[in-house]
Amino acid sequence: MAKRQFKAESKRLLDLMIHSIYTHREIFLRELISNASDAIDKLCYRSLEDGGAGLDRSDFFIRITPDKDARTLTIADNGIGMDEQELDSNLGVIARSGSRQFKTDMDQEKAGEENIDIIGQFGVGFYSAFMVADKVTVTSKKFGSDAAFRWESAGTDGYTVVPAEKEGQGTEIVLRLKEDGEEEKYSEFLEDWKLRELIKKYSDYVRYPIKLGEDTVNSMVPLWQRSKQEASDEDCAAFYKEKFYDPEEPRRIIRVSAEGAVSYKALLFIPAKAPFNYYSRDYEAGLQLYANGVMIMEHCTDLLPECFRFVRGIVDSPDLSLNISRELLQHDRQLKVIAANLEKKVKSELTKLLEEEPEKYEEFYSQFGLQLKYGILADFGAKRELLQDLLLFYDSGAKKPIPLKSYVSAMPEEQKSIYYACGDTVARLEKLPQAEPVREKGWSILYLTDEVDEFVMNMIGEYQEKPLKNVITGDPDLESGEDKEKLEKLQQANEAMLAFAKEALEGAVENVTLSGQLKSAPACLGTQGEITLEMEKYFASIPGSGDKIKAQRVLELNPEHPVFEALVRAYAGDQEKAKKYVKLLYFQALLYAGAEITDPAAYADLISELMV
Ligand code: ADP
Repeated sequence: MAKRQFKAESKRLLDLMIHSIYTHREIFLRELISNASDAIDKLCYRSLEDGGAGLDRSDFFIRITPDKDARTLTIADNGIGMDEQELDSNLGVIARSGSRQFKTDMDQEKAGEENIDIIGQFGVGFYSAFMVADKVTVTSKKFGSDAAFRWESAGTDGYTVVPAEKEGQGTEIVLRLKEDGEEEKYSEFLEDWKLRELIKKYSDYVRYPIKLGEDTVNSMVPLWQRSKQEASDEDCAAFYKEKFYDPEEPRRIIRVSAEGAVSYKALLFIPAKAPFNYYSRDYEAGLQLYANGVMIMEHCTDLLPECFRFVRGIVDSPDLSLNISRELLQHDRQLKVIAANLEKKVKSELTKLLEEEPEKYEEFYSQFGLQLKYGILADFGAKRELLQDLLLFYDSGAKKPIPLKSYVSAMPEEQKSIYYACGDTVARLEKLPQAEPVREKGWSILYLTDEVDEFVMNMIGEYQEKPLKNVITGDPDLESGEDKEKLEKLQQANEAMLAFAKEALEGAVENVTLSGQLKSAPACLGTQGEITLEMEKYFASIPGSGDKIKAQRVLELNPEHPVFEALVRAYAGDQEKAKKYVKLLYFQALLYAGAEITDPAAYADLISELMV
């Protein structure tokens, strides 16, 4: 019998499969099982239409049979089957759904491996058999027909279709496995344990029993398809621990069941603890994506925004079954709809946790708060609205971390801004000279101790129309107009002395000014311009950035302090001494600010000199 030829584009795909260096060869089993399951679906549907046709749902199954001696693996189903013409057209050409996509992908192909990865994402259908087999024999009998046919191919040189014998309707696919190579051990696919592993991993929720010997290997009904009554929180937690290898109970279980334009079910989990590699490159984010119970992607990162990458779980949608495995990258509109809904859902669950169980939220936040902050900074603040209410900052009044919302609702009416200060520790910030006047008004300050905090505050900018003010840089707006005038006069009167002081510091500061706000401290260190001391520290900690990025320092003096008088006197009488005073004040200001004194010896000498 003459060999029939594959259609050109099929041939190319086939070629790719045969010479595949694709590491996920194992998905061939998933593909063939899914085809079998589809074939049973079709027959079920048909029998519904025909009013039964003498078929019972429970009669259906998929059987996997390894034969080590013959080196074959057989996948059999009792679904709808194919007649001669269908064998020819279905298996002789790539399913139309995917062909065009494959073609364009392959045309654009430069590096082979890249392309193969794309195939792995699309799902490759029947031809994936050729990743593991050098000969494929398909014997099929169409439901309602007496005749069976056999399709056979050993690869790109074509295929044959001949009449055959077969009991009962359905399809039987026999794969003759390739010889083992140095690295590829195809004979593994004849091992009972391997087959079980693969069925569990990819096809656990296929609706029909998948039999291996006497056993049904798959569990069939997915947990997420069950209602809350049928699947308790304990069930879900146990499922989570097993599926995601986490010994801890999940912090929160999120169930979603959506009907409508896009239908899907999701079962999501917020882990109690960040995995040890969470903040490293090794952590693999993404939800498992299923189409009708068949896993099509283990880590689908398109389903949640990066800032929620700690969420684990599963999304299953029947609407994806035909499209997504093959045309995901192009037609991902449905995926986008799901992603938008899940984003909202995760936020609302976190908000609920924050409002209803603040202690639990704090525990959550201790694990993943940093991720939320990074989320604010990413993409120029695109997720600011989403995330800003989920952040916590230590509040000097409440003496605990609180959300911005709580800070604002506790603000007295005359307070117009949200105040914050950045530094290493809360204890140190309590002593910050610039914090004192704000606290003395009876207003709270948010003490920020994470390196990224200041950037986060800059990104947020204002919250509920209240500007966010750094007590160190911004004019904190505490004085009345009268006070301001007074200070300005004082500043003018001391202009020469202040210029002298700046000179004395030999370029260490951009300016020396008077401050109308300081209370008990004689001086403090402020900055002007965009870069603050905390930012300077942060940039200095990034390898390679060196110390190129510098804050413009300003030494602020407290004119109400007795030390100021001493300085004025020294300036008038003994300028050498005045110089020393200025330096000493600068060192003090550095200490208050928690900044490093680059020359501690000079500081020590100065004190000794002034003492004698
Ligand atoms: P797809 O499943 O995306 O259509 P495949 O290459 O996997 O692409 O299969 C091509 C076609 O062959 C299927 O659409 C189906 O009609 C037919 N087919 C494959 N396997 C079976 C089977 N076990 N029983 C009946 N028909 C099958």
